[in-house]
Amino acid sequence: MSGARGVVLVHGGAGVMRSLSGEREAAYRDGLAVAARAGREALERGEGPLAAVLAAARVFEASGAFNAGLGSCLDEEGGYGLDAALMRGRDRAAGAVGALTATYHPADVCLDLLREGRHVLLVGEGADARARRLGLPPLPAPPPEKRAAWEALRERSAARPEELGSVGRPDDEGAVADSQDTVGAVAVDGEGRVAAAVSTGGMWLKAPGRVGDSALVGAGLFACDELGAAASATGIGERMIRSATCVVACQVAAREGAARGAQAAADELEARFGPGSGGLIVVDRRGELGVAFNTRGMGRAFARVGADEVPVAVWPEDAFPVTLAP
Ligand code: ASP
Repeated sequence: MSGARGVVLVHGGAGVMRSLSGEREAAYRDGLAVAARAGREALERGEGPLAAVLAAARVFEASGAFNAGLGSCLDEEGGYGLDAALMRGRDRAAGAVGALTATYHPADVCLDLLREGRHVLLVGEGADARARRLGLPPLPAPPPEKRAAWEALRERSAARPEELGSVGRPDDEGAVADSQDTVGAVAVDGEGRVAAAVSTGGMWLKAPGRVGDSALVGAGLFACDELGAAASATGIGERMIRSATCVVACQVAAREGAARGAQAAADELEARFGPGSGGLIVVDRRGELGVAFNTRGMGRAFARVGADEVPVAVWPEDAFPVTLAP
């Protein structure tokens, strides 16, 4: 990347987002900006792209306003099962957890696995044991409002049993229902080194033990310095897994840039599964950014080293100047 200017791009989930307006939308936008800034600060301190995406993930996980960490959704039995992953482009080192319940900072468990280098993915009790060993803060019992949302969703699913335990819960327009605040981040530093992160509570009313794309390298995220690209996805995880969404995005980005990489992966989802599947963010080694989604909205923000402003967008029509000047 020329000019030694790193950048961090984050997303806050793709979905219908019907209830996102007013104060809630303001808090959501604010959370995106704070996470992007936290990532940029890590780059400015010279800590590299992995530290940058981790810093953004930690902010999201602690905020409670996103479907990740403290804000995670509940499965069909009212329990938690968090998925997350981190990947470093330099050596394709990765750490991931699935169906974790012991902490609201799953990305830190991922970091421990990535550094250790023995296993890429731990799930369930094994992931929980690692979180406890690391002394990470426990995930508290769901607050009353979340319980109430869960009850309401269960009632709705009882009335429409075809939705029970399904992921995505199609609404009347066949699009993903209002629960997609999964978070992700991609970053590149001044030397063109990349990294990616993703963290989620998964899908509301999922089956206990279900693991989605967010724990899976290639589907929910990918980062590779040789390709010079990193990607992080959100949406109906089963579709990303079956499409290898983030690998596709990085391969195209290597040849045609981040914007084309994101669009190519989103086009593939659209062609195979139709509208309402989700979206993704991509960065390439030149610092070009790519964003694509086929849901009603997808929260996104970016922060460039050396630039003050942090553009934030949610809807397709929102201004979001991601491509580089030629
Ligand atoms: N992709 C996540 C999952 O399937 C959910 C999301 O992005 O909203 O678990």
